[in-house]
Amino acid sequence: MKYPKIREIREALTALFTSAYTTSFPVTPHTPFKNYRGKPVVDDENCVGCETCTNVCPAGVITFFDDKEKKVRIIERDYGLCLFCGQCEEHCITGKGVKLSDTLYELATFDRNQLVERQEKELIICASCGAVITTKEHIRFIHNKLGPMAYASILDLNLLNERLRLADDADVSVGITDDLKRKDMFNLICPKCLRKVLLKSL
Ligand code: SF4
Ligand code: SF4
Repeated sequence: MKYPKIREIREALTALFTSAYTTSFPVTPHTPFKNYRGKPVVDDENCVGCETCTNVCPAGVITFFDDKEKKVRIIERDYGLCLFCGQCEEHCITGKGVKLSDTLYELATFDRNQLVERQEKELIICASCGAVITTKEHIRFIHNKLGPMAYASILDLNLLNERLRLADDADVSVGITDDLKRKDMFNLICPKCLRKVLLKSL
């Protein structure tokens, strides 16, 4: 008969009289450590729908779809794919559009659709060629960032134009045909069409 070694007896006794190494989660809620990276949380007020986070997300969590007819950009975030790397927060152009929570860590679910979040942002469409320019909030953000310098941008002026109604309704909303005129520079047109207007001096 083999007798247990002294070391093994000591370990068994130590384990018997010390508390468990594991926690009693989920009976007792887990307290995340400092700087824990949990589920990203979007602040819709501070997210301008610029697409930057889509480009930096390594896991393809964030997808964009531009619905030109409804003039909306649909942003979907599937947190079932998230790696919690923090790249979206790091590169957010407003610095406040998305932040990784340090308390949201319970994402287990039987229905993966519950992990998909959706946002909608109003789009600006070129009145001439129909190309998507960007979202209205994105342009407003750039405008605020640039301050008075923003007025050097014709697109910015045109957004104000839309509010001030300086241009005829017919020019702004009906859309421009291929026949771009010099006056069309005061409509909402994309940089490509604007270049045509300015260079050709029609
Ligand atoms: S934390 Fe990383 S993986 Fe998750 S959404 Fe942000 S960039 Fe994508
Ligand atoms: S980078 Fe920031 S502002 Fe741009 S879409 Fe992502 S969360 Fe929104």
